Amino acid sequence: MSDKYCVIGNPIAHSKSPEIHPVYAAQTGQDLVYERCLAPLDGFAATVRRLVAEGYRGANVTLPFKIEAAQVCTRLEERARAAGAVNTLSFEQGEIIGDNTDGPGLVADITRNAGVAIRDKRVLLLGAGGAARGALLPIIQQQPREIVIANRTVATAEALARDFARYGIPVSATGFAEIAGSFDIVVNATSGSLAGELPPVPAAVFGPGSLALDMMYGSRPTVFMDFASQAGAATRDGLGMLVEQAAEAFAIWRGVRPDTAEVFRKMRP
Ligand code: NDP
Repeated sequence: MSDKYCVIGNPIAHSKSPEIHPVYAAQTGQDLVYERCLAPLDGFAATVRRLVAEGYRGANVTLPFKIEAAQVCTRLEERARAAGAVNTLSFEQGEIIGDNTDGPGLVADITRNAGVAIRDKRVLLLGAGGAARGALLPIIQQQPREIVIANRTVATAEALARDFARYGIPVSATGFAEIAGSFDIVVNATSGSLAGELPPVPAAVFGPGSLALDMMYGSRPTVFMDFASQAGAATRDGLGMLVEQAAEAFAIWRGVRPDTAEVFRKMRP
């Protein structure tokens, strides 16, 4: 029988993960099935218990359960603990192991797919929610020169900067209007793009060599990408991050990292 995996969320119909993992499985010769799993809003933990009882080997977790997922785990990997959120569960010999591959997926997209090294660069992170928190440790591990976190609610950015100050890389916090200077890499981790809203950052944050990445993805460039492009930056949306976080999860489960280019081509012909 094939090994069983799924993605748990509410809603879940929009999730692209069930389109991605079967391609990785075929490519690497792994025998598995991967489904969508709708969990009731008040029934995430019960859903995980059911999956374990039914012999599932693991699951991805998406909105709104990523924080709750960290609480059902019997063990957390460091990057999940730092993120305070889990997007990848492994069910192994009675243990529920939680990891977070969103940040590693972002870093893989920037460094491998865009070919931009993070080491010694100035990085601006817009937003201080779950996605920003998940991105911080993987970005820090690439040894940037500096990270500035800018958020609408400055106190949330300040709390995040404090939490990540202990890794030896300068991390500071600010409001959007007060951002000073230009940055090599600007990541939009706000959810503003969902509503077509642009974080009100000065155009001067982008220079001709900057990379601007919006974590959101869709069939058209986001307002943030249009703004960054007009200011001279190269732009990317979050599709590469999505495809790469899935590859990281697949590697955790199966011990082999798939080639993401094939999926990327299929999803964005
Ligand atoms: P959260 O709800 O945890 O955080 C939202 C953040 O956006 C907060 O910092 C909030 O600021 C800010 N924000 C919301 N609306 C606006 C606005 N109109 N203008 C400026 N700032 C705003 O969301 P997540 O962190 O989970 O997700 C953020 C984005 O990342 C989403 O678009 C999501 O789809 C995307 N994402 C993409 C992934 C991928 O694989 N490509 C993976 C994970 C997330 P405040 O604190 O002031 O409320």
